[in-house]
Amino acid sequence: MRVCLIYPGIVGKGFDSIGQGMDSGWISHGLAILAACARQAGHEVSLIDLRAMKGWEHFQRDLADRHPEVVALTIMSADYNPAMHCLEITRAFDPKIITMVGGAHATIMPQELESNPNIDHIFLGEAENTFPDALNKLARGEAVPRIVPGDHPDLNSIPYADHALFIDEWRAQGYAVTSPEAPFAEELPPPFVTIIAGRGCMYNCSYCQPAERHIFGRKVRMRSVGNVMGELEELRDRFHFASLMFHDDCLTEDREWVIEFCRAYRAAGFTQPFFCQSRADIIVKNEDMVALMAQVGLKGYFIGFESGSDRVLRFIRKGTKRAQNLKAAEICRKYGIAIWANYMLGLPTETKDEVLETISMLKKIDPDYYSPAFYTPHPGSDLYDYCIANDLSLIKDHDSYRRNPDEAKIRGVDYEWLAWALAESQKRTPLNRLQRGVRKTWKRYAQPKKIARKLRQLFGAQQ
Ligand code: SF4
Repeated sequence: MRVCLIYPGIVGKGFDSIGQGMDSGWISHGLAILAACARQAGHEVSLIDLRAMKGWEHFQRDLADRHPEVVALTIMSADYNPAMHCLEITRAFDPKIITMVGGAHATIMPQELESNPNIDHIFLGEAENTFPDALNKLARGEAVPRIVPGDHPDLNSIPYADHALFIDEWRAQGYAVTSPEAPFAEELPPPFVTIIAGRGCMYNCSYCQPAERHIFGRKVRMRSVGNVMGELEELRDRFHFASLMFHDDCLTEDREWVIEFCRAYRAAGFTQPFFCQSRADIIVKNEDMVALMAQVGLKGYFIGFESGSDRVLRFIRKGTKRAQNLKAAEICRKYGIAIWANYMLGLPTETKDEVLETISMLKKIDPDYYSPAFYTPHPGSDLYDYCIANDLSLIKDHDSYRRNPDEAKIRGVDYEWLAWALAESQKRTPLNRLQRGVRKTWKRYAQPKKIARKLRQLFGAQQ
């Protein structure tokens, strides 16, 4: 079959935005893996990335030029509106094109899509087996059900993500892109790539679960270290990547895996710096693992600190405490690991005093990168159900599922005050600024080679 995959993620930066940060500079791993699976099954695959289109007319023209037999979209909740518009355009252009949707929103809220006449097939959960299987059936003229349940594929048997799918398309659309994905931190030079080493999460945060389990199942499945190394070697050969990031929800939850990976990464001669997600409790309980990761190239952790209030952390079932958040930050600092602090303001039941506790925690942590969000109730999570049951949600449109801290999301929150809190949470204290300045200077000059060069310059100047 001639398949056109569509990535509809324009809610962040809009059309014609390739290269503008994470929103418009990262690939969809879901589509990149499905592309590889479909090709492996003998189908022809192309990609339309809405972020690389100039507007809807451009999309229409591009679709007409390709004239695929199948159009398949991945949908996150925030991407619902542009995804639905793509489907309308597709149906209007040629009703014979078979339309398919999948991804997180399709899996969590299939009832929202079922009655849509522009959609032929809805794929639930993981589709690395079911998507090529459906294409094969369609090619043979066999029927495919309207709702296709997913399964949990063996992650070591499916092909690697097709990392070139996106950059090739961006270049074909005229973007002079040199890095397969957009780096986002000074510790990560281009060419930059992202990779996923496993699926699922064993934790139970109420703003996230059970959606995660619903998609990936109860068990965490890691690819073998050898399989991940194989992909990294391919990426090194093809893109000569200078840094990378693991997309895994919590790469560090499997300590043994991480240790084996670190040894293999070093043994294979990789020195490229990398970032990954972790949790404060894991960092505190596994300092030796953190030290090993730092030795082999870890330069930054994304940490979901979320709140500085123990009551709020309990309420959202984070499984961490304020003291662990502070200790984790101390450990990161000790090993020179940058801290990307994820946190939320405006959670249900949160008081202003508790928001102030988050602010005071951040002043102590002094993260390298602040990543705040106004709490957004996401479908599929227990906290979303709580918001619906208590009539708290102010979300009227799918665009508002975006993780943007500039919009009222739930009732009972003083967003004017929260805007002040948001700004205050990101202000460094004079002492923090001073310590940062000292650390930066130390890092810049306190290296044996640089000291030797300075001494040579000094010595030479005196002769
Ligand atoms: S928020 Fe992160 S740690 Fe918590 S359950 Fe979800 S993926 Fe796991």
